[in-house]
Amino acid sequence: MTDVAGEAKRRRTFAVISHPDAGKSTMTEALALHASAITQAGAVHGKAGRRGVTSDWMELERTRGISITSAALRFEHRGHVFNLVDTPGHADFSEDTYRVLAAVDCAVMLIDAAKGMEPQTMKLFEVCRHRRIPVITFVNKWDRPGREALQLLDEIEERTGLRPTPITWPVGISGDFHGVVDRAEQRLIRYLRTPGGATKAQEADLTTEQAQAEWGGDWLRAGEEVALLDEIGADHDQKAFESHESTPVLFGAALTNFGVGRLLDALADLAPAPGPRADIADRPRPVESPFSGLVFKVQANMDPAHRDRIAFVRVCSGRFQRGMVLTHAATGRPFATKYAQAMFGQERATVDEAFPGDVVGLVNATALRPGDTLYDGPAVTYPPIPSFAPEHFAVARARNSGKSKQFRRGIDQLDAEGVIQVLRSDLRGDQAPVLAAVGPMQFEVVQHRLAAEFGAEISLDHLDYTLARRTDSASAELMAGQRGAEVLMRSSDETLLAVFTDRWRMGSIKSDHPGLVLEPLIADT
Ligand code: GDP
Repeated sequence: MTDVAGEAKRRRTFAVISHPDAGKSTMTEALALHASAITQAGAVHGKAGRRGVTSDWMELERTRGISITSAALRFEHRGHVFNLVDTPGHADFSEDTYRVLAAVDCAVMLIDAAKGMEPQTMKLFEVCRHRRIPVITFVNKWDRPGREALQLLDEIEERTGLRPTPITWPVGISGDFHGVVDRAEQRLIRYLRTPGGATKAQEADLTTEQAQAEWGGDWLRAGEEVALLDEIGADHDQKAFESHESTPVLFGAALTNFGVGRLLDALADLAPAPGPRADIADRPRPVESPFSGLVFKVQANMDPAHRDRIAFVRVCSGRFQRGMVLTHAATGRPFATKYAQAMFGQERATVDEAFPGDVVGLVNATALRPGDTLYDGPAVTYPPIPSFAPEHFAVARARNSGKSKQFRRGIDQLDAEGVIQVLRSDLRGDQAPVLAAVGPMQFEVVQHRLAAEFGAEISLDHLDYTLARRTDSASAELMAGQRGAEVLMRSSDETLLAVFTDRWRMGSIKSDHPGLVLEPLIADT
């Protein structure tokens, strides 16, 4: 008998949320370096130097230099199994970036010491807030000039509403980094420069006498700051952390691997293990129940000849074994995971079994959509993943009017898959829906797939709207004919969205019509 509860208990499934350039890739490598037994869970890349699967989709990925297919990195440390779920950023920022947060139990908010809370970090943080995902903060690049530590704490608190509880505290201002005081473990650790990527950081302990002799005034100052933190009670409180009221904070430099081991320890000690997940009726399914999993990302068109899809599933309960026949909750149909075997058989990342918190890639998943549930044994359906606030809008039209049927079918299909949000209005009609996206990359995917899979080439006319609010039909009437704004209905959930060119326009329409209902959507900051 496998001890499912025991396996779940040693899992830590998390994502790094950050703004481009804060150091997410550097941190990911550094984390993996500190740990061992690295596999790319669910990855579909071939072995080194050889692509297992090639397609023009991969071509798009290659030419753009972005990674669309990676899903999760798995590694072990101190007897724990870590699943680091990727949050695509930069050019491939899309609705998927938000959706993957449905698969994690904790987030590491990585901030650049010189830049503080940046826009993309805030957006991802908003999703964490909505999902009540506990957040550990890592202030990165302390080896470079940046802001003051206390100032950063204020900013974190002000922007996130979370009370910062530093676990480590830097000695020396950013750019003149001597080491950290480990408040939790009552240690002093010297900062040693180690070349990135090569070795683990050498972290040497110091006595207070040594610190005083070597660090002088910087040590006194750090001591005063730590005393201040003690005084205001900025101490870690597990309950406050788990209920999204406080955030433990660590300082370090991913590039030189400093503080990275401490971050792993914090994840092992503080981040929650996979727990019972509430279903759509708010009934929790214990982790030791029979298998259940949530599809959080669907990667389409890996191989255009087969119109293949790979679905990334977060195991929520039970033990996954390759070859199982599961039930797809949305349709009640069986879903055979034996196809995963063939696919992964050629690749190194074979997933033979998995436990709560793990990520599994299932091929031949044509019927699966983000937010879907798969289960074995007693039926369960997890709540759907909500749609997020779009910021990019474009009108799509079939280039060839003879293809309007294919065009409509394709749009409906991509809408159902959650590739893009489709907005409609009577005014615009069925042949010119508005496509709404979180990142512009989503338009490219739509264009590519409509042509490749449905034979419908499309043209896109970008609209200059940049923000959307939930509204109602009375407000829609008030807004009719307004310049720089429009009300559209989202096809997937029939939500009415008021879209605006900018905040200023929204503000002026709102002041003309104080009764207007405009509610923020998730991730809107
Ligand atoms: P990402 O866009 O968040 O994935 O950021 P990268 O990991 O690519 O890092 C962006 C840049 O910051 C790169 O040039 C890194 O070498 C640099 N960088 C990352 N971490 C640190 C750090 O701790 N200290 C310094 N000085 N540079 C860093």
